[in-house]
Amino acid sequence: WAKAEGRGRWAVYDPERSAADIARSSLAAGLPAALDRGEFVLHYQPIVSLLDGTMLAVEALVRWQHPERGLIGPDRFIGLAEETGLIVRLGAWVLGQACRDAESWRRAYPDARLVVSVNLAARQADDPAIVETVADALARTGLPAELLQLELTESAVMGSAGEPLRSLHELADLGVRLAIDDFGTGYSNLAYLRRLPIHCLKLAGPFVEGIRADGADADHRDERIVDALVRLAHALELGVTAEAVETAVQAERLRALRCDTGQGRWFGAPVPAEQIRSRLAGGEVAA
Ligand code: C2E
Ligand code: MG
Ligand code: MG
Ligand code: MG
Repeated sequence: WAKAEGRGRWAVYDPERSAADIARSSLAAGLPAALDRGEFVLHYQPIVSLLDGTMLAVEALVRWQHPERGLIGPDRFIGLAEETGLIVRLGAWVLGQACRDAESWRRAYPDARLVVSVNLAARQADDPAIVETVADALARTGLPAELLQLELTESAVMGSAGEPLRSLHELADLGVRLAIDDFGTGYSNLAYLRRLPIHCLKLAGPFVEGIRADGADADHRDERIVDALVRLAHALELGVTAEAVETAVQAERLRALRCDTGQGRWFGAPVPAEQIRSRLAGGEVAA
């Protein structure tokens, strides 16, 4: 199989090439046109105070509303968009749309001070134009910088050169908040935490999943890891959000461990923008 991009455009029949590969590249090939046709949509998932249950932020999560295949989740196409480089253009669209939605919520419910949290893929964060892209999204929509949070994984923070991205300081200087996504699953070079302008750690789902009432975690290993990570965050004066909170037991234990905020099906699945608006209308505003 010769690569279908570039000069040659040769496609040699290869019986080894699996049906999954073919499906994958046809999905990848459809991405740019899907972006031009406006087939991507954002859903938003509440990030809730564990103290009093108020919705403090929402995470923007992209989906592809495919005309034939229905709603496709990001795990199926974000990797492809990174490989092809389309993530830079798709990511700019996500930033613009998330800021537009957040600004419309702010105008309708100014007291809520709802933060919108946007994921940045490694390749996007590494893009030389990222600071301009973010500044542009804020300027065009009018969203105050402090109502935008950017989520980067530990490996995205370290960049392709293996050292922390310099653009992080410029992003923080714009006034946006920076969060480390899936914290505890990547490189554990903790040295960067004290040097970088990070505001929040998002504890990866698997640690939260380990907090359970059925005795399967009898020695409370995951709970002790969460305890340690919450203490680490607070020692560094960072906020801490637990991801993938699915049960009342998890929410209660996380609250007892002094975790600040939670996100997950227990507090609400990702939903279209209008449903966030109704939740705001229902009086769920920050104190
Ligand atoms: P993530 O940033 O860690 O997002 C959290 C994922 O956990 C979301 O999956 C969310 O739907 C899922 N989740 C929500 N509640 C629960 C729960 O109670 N339990 C469990 N186990 N999971 C829960 P989703 O929407 O499929 O997104 C997957 C990943 O795709 C995201 O992980 C993020 O890395 C990436 N992604 C999503 N949207 C974007 C985007 O706009 N740009 C970039 N670069 N990446 C994105
Ligand atoms: Mg998914
Ligand atoms: Mg995220
Ligand atoms: Mg995450």
